[in-house]
Order: sequence, then C-alpha cells, then structure tokens
Amino acid sequence: MNTAFEIAVFEGDGIGPEITAPTVDLLRQLAARSPDYELNFHSVPAGAAHYAKTGESLPSDSLAVARDADAILLSAMGLPDIRYDDGTEIAPQIELRKRFGLFAGVRPVRVLPGGITPLKLPEGQGIDFVLIRESTEGLFHTQGTGEVTKDEARETMLITRDVSEKLFRFAFDLAAQRKKQGRGKGRVTCVDKANVFRAFAFFREIFDAEAARHPDLSADHAYVDAMALWMVQKPWEFDVLVTENMFGDILSDLGAGLMGGLGLAPSADIGLDNAVFQPCHGSAPDIAGQGKANPYAMILSAAMMLEWLGTRNGVEAMRADGERLARAVDVQIASDTMLTVDLGGTARTDEAASAVGAALFDGA
Ligand code: ATP
Repeated sequence: MNTAFEIAVFEGDGIGPEITAPTVDLLRQLAARSPDYELNFHSVPAGAAHYAKTGESLPSDSLAVARDADAILLSAMGLPDIRYDDGTEIAPQIELRKRFGLFAGVRPVRVLPGGITPLKLPEGQGIDFVLIRESTEGLFHTQGTGEVTKDEARETMLITRDVSEKLFRFAFDLAAQRKKQGRGKGRVTCVDKANVFRAFAFFREIFDAEAARHPDLSADHAYVDAMALWMVQKPWEFDVLVTENMFGDILSDLGAGLMGGLGLAPSADIGLDNAVFQPCHGSAPDIAGQGKANPYAMILSAAMMLEWLGTRNGVEAMRADGERLARAVDVQIASDTMLTVDLGGTARTDEAASAVGAALFDGA
C-alpha cells in the first residue's frame, strides 16, 4: 500500500534555503524509489526576512499548512539585525513549539567509533544517547513576559503534571523502541535539581510514577550539574536523558559539542499531533550565500522525520529509509574528503549533499 504524507517546509533565513533545497531533493529521490510511501512538499514562508518584507513573522496561512501537515521540516529562522519592536529575536520555531504543544525536544547525540568528537574516546567506543528537552514550559514559561523593575527581575518556572506525564511517557517509549532496535540499554535518566528546588522534586516524583509502569526498563536520576560532568567523562553510558526546558537547552549544546559541532546536530520537537524537524544550528548569516553551509544536520533531521513518520504510521520502508539516510551522512562524516568548512574540510554544500545521494543511490 502506498501512503502519501504531506510535509510543510519552512526554508527560513540565512543558510536555510541553501540547506533545505538539497535535503528536500534527497527526500524526493528516496520517495520516488519507494513503492510504499509518497511525500508531498508544501513550502511556506515565515521568519525574519519575511517579517522585514511583510511585517508578519509567521503568517496564519503558513501556520494552517503546518498544522495540517503530517510533519514539518524547518531549517533555521532569525537574523540578528531584524527584530521585533521590543528588541527580541524573530523565532517562529519557538512559537510553533508553543502553538502545537511540542513538549518533547529530541536531541540525539551520536558519534560512531572513530568519528568526530573533541573527546578522546576509548578504542572502539562510540556515543549514542538521546537527550529529551521539555520544550513548552519550565524556565521558558515566562519567556518575554518576565517582570523587570529598576531593582529586580523575576521569571517563573512552571512544571505541570500534564506535560510532565506526557514527556516521561515519551521518554520511556523511546527507550523501549531503542532497546528493541538494539541501539540502547533500555535506560532512562531524569536530569533535575531535586536536591534544591521543590519544583524538581515534583518533576522527579512524576518521573518515578511513569518508571514504575516500565519494569522492563531501568530508570535513574542525576542532578544537572553532575550530568554536565558525566556527558564529558562517560557519555557512552547513557541511553535516554529527560529534562526540563532550560537544562535541556544548555545540555543539548553540550551534546552538539560532543559530536563535532552544531553542523552535525539534528533535532525534533514532537507533540501529540504535530512534529517539527530541524537542525540545532541557527541561520548562520555570516556564511549565507557562500555555498559553505554544512547540510548534514539538516539531512539528519530529515532522516529523523522519515523514521518518526514511518514508525508512527507503520510504514517500515520509510523508517528504514530514514535510517539509511542517516547512515549515508555517517559515511561522509567518516571520510576525509567530504568534510565541510566548519568541520575543517573544504567540501561545499552541494558537494556534501550530492555525496550523500551517491552513497544512498549509487552505493558510492
Ligand atoms: P541561533 O541563535 O539562531 O541559534 P546562533 O547565534 O547560535 O544562532 P548560528 O547561526 O547557529 O548561531 O551560528 C553559529 C556559528 O556556527 C556561526 O559562525 C555559523 O557560521 C556556524 N554555523 C552554524 N550552522 C552552520 C552550518 N550548518 N554550517 C556551517 N557553519 C555553521
């Protein structure tokens, strides 16, 4: 049976269009070769450049297309010189998280044995864990509405039972899935600061209640400061980490650092009905239009999209194509010839993306 999926595409700002075009092209080629699924792409405007032109950063038509799509593929949005009147940055991707309740920010951290990392890993050792960052509340709850007087500034952290239950269910389901695929040990670690804040004791209690429903998986806790240390000292020990929004914001950049930088870090923001797939990096205006942008994080995000859609809809061929796409990127990262400028190489955006296509389709 051929199943058709509608994909909303936000090309965004800066290097966004440069990394989106070859990524969509790879997805089109994969789908064209599969009898099992079809992909229909709907390109929609949003972002800082669109705001400068029209006064709107996330048009309601774009939002409607995104809401109705099976998945949303987003490159990067925002430009340092284009801001709202109050001086804040234009970030429709954050608005999408809130509008669509995308509570699970999924940040995989993966380094193959011998792969790029600033760490000196033991011989034959790789890194493969997933950080799940709650993305709708926590310390971002009062984002843009914090109280500031002459003498004080105040922001509020919000942890709700409803979102936390969904978050932990998602984390344990992911650990079960990874265990089944032979990728993880079936371990979920709650990262918090329950020794200091009552809100985190509450968070941990909800985690423990979900853990009790999964006797086949192991569950433990870590304080966020200790986790920052362990992610550097022994990152290979972890499987699924789950944490609050601000802690996750910080630890996910540490995770990106472990895997050779932002140019290799994919992500997904997943809710009950919608999901956005986008690279962790920003719009990199300093290199826009020069053909130097690294497309790998964007392609890896698209691979996550295929895996998520395939798993969610029971289209195994699509899930497997997502895995193949990610492996084809791994091959380039492992090669000395297809490293982009940010990785210390000379490969241009189109060369890197074409090499991924060659590895996929020509067995190169
Ligand atoms: P944001 O606040 O939007 O996340 P940022 O200020 O963290 O953005 P980025 O746009 O991610 O910054 O860029 C940080 C640095 O990394 C810049 O020097 C940029 O050129 C580089 N960079 C980011 N993404 C890429 C990429 N895909 N390829 C090459 N270099 C990149």
